Amino acid sequence: MIGKGARLLIVDDESHIREVLHDFLSQSYDCVALNSGEDALALLSTESSFDVIISDIKMARMSGLEMVPHILNLAPEAVIIMISGQRTIEFAIDAMRAGAFDYITKPFDLSEVDAAVRRALDHGKLFKDKLTRASGSDENSVKQLRRAVDNEEFVVYYQPQVDIESGNIVGAEALVRWKHPELGLLPPADFILLAEETGLIIPLGRWVLHMACAQAKKWHQAGFPGFRVAVNVSPRQLQQGNLCETVVQTLNETELEPDCLELELTETSMMQNAESEIEILASLRKMGLKIAIDDFGTGYSSLGYLKNLPIDSVKLDQSFVKGATTDPDDAALVMAVVTLAHNLRLKVIAEGIETEDQLKFLRLLRCDRGQGYLFGKPAPADPIEATRQARYLPEDRYVMSYSLPPT
Ligand code: C2E
Ligand code: MG
Ligand code: MG
Repeated sequence: MIGKGARLLIVDDESHIREVLHDFLSQSYDCVALNSGEDALALLSTESSFDVIISDIKMARMSGLEMVPHILNLAPEAVIIMISGQRTIEFAIDAMRAGAFDYITKPFDLSEVDAAVRRALDHGKLFKDKLTRASGSDENSVKQLRRAVDNEEFVVYYQPQVDIESGNIVGAEALVRWKHPELGLLPPADFILLAEETGLIIPLGRWVLHMACAQAKKWHQAGFPGFRVAVNVSPRQLQQGNLCETVVQTLNETELEPDCLELELTETSMMQNAESEIEILASLRKMGLKIAIDDFGTGYSSLGYLKNLPIDSVKLDQSFVKGATTDPDDAALVMAVVTLAHNLRLKVIAEGIETEDQLKFLRLLRCDRGQGYLFGKPAPADPIEATRQARYLPEDRYVMSYSLPPT
């Protein structure tokens, strides 16, 4: 059974709600129910071993939203579900921004409650596995990574982005790799999380940004003006990294035009960001930078949430693109995202395009840009030969592959 051994804390000042949840969830989990935020925090300060915390958003004294930052401090591994009286986008945004993972609405549909708790437990397990992997990250890995950052043992690969309508290559995403002295070239999955955990993502991210902007400038000078580079930004960089100052300084040093730099933040990190961090993105955008939501569709945000964000484009996650030509549900989802994003005057970039059929489908939907192995795998900038035209033309694919602009 999925919930075996899982511990749940239920916080609500309405006794009826507390009882309904407690009776139902106790059938599968070990549950404690309390009637105020104050009591919950007092308990968490002595005993933080709860897997899921379900709290009402509105309570007589301390509200659920006020509680969340304290919970995240006291029990950082607990996954939070909020209870609301109504299902509105504003509520969902408030809950997610505060740090909740999901929400349930009254009156309860108990099968929905069950599903939300299961999702939360799965999510918590995934998070803990990642942490264990990162901290299998013992002292030694941290030392190695720190040394790697000091010695710049990294390389930036670039993956082309194609304008789907014209076939022109209009930009590239910068993707970092670690040139590990013993293990060889390591993908970001092996070290980004540890870099985030340790704060090393801040100097590393700054280095990637600098390399990518300098490379874009080189491509401009080589005769590809307007070529745009996309750089991934982790939530930690936005929270503590003086991101605005770093970006301004990098653009000055590399003399890159701001509108040739696109910053990518994942959907999940956008939802976790506080108002002040969203404002940082808004001010970067005012300077002319482009902002994209990465891996869109993998978080739990509603499409309506998009309209409140200072963004220019949405990067549709590769899992949907993969299924778009085989799974009607994925196809419907891709269509819905493209249509809604366009109505909100946002561009759509499809990630993970691997086949002509996927490309055709996306072209039919008027998807704006594409990225994927069909056009090219991530590759280092230097050895790429510019022997061919920087264009993707399917009908000529036998005679004409494409490459990034010369370096
Ligand atoms: P992402 O930003 O979503 O990048 C796209 C990932 O999908 C890349 O993996 C790319 O190689 C892969 N990909 C692209 N096209 C295809 C395709 O057609 N098929 C398949 N199967 N995969 C494709 P990569 O390079 O391993 O990067 C993984 C993630 O690591 C990135 O996902 C990004 O979230 C993170 N990352 C990479 N570089 C940086 C960085 O400099 N800073 C931060 N904070 N994160 C980074
Ligand atoms: Mg990305
Ligand atoms: Mg992505």
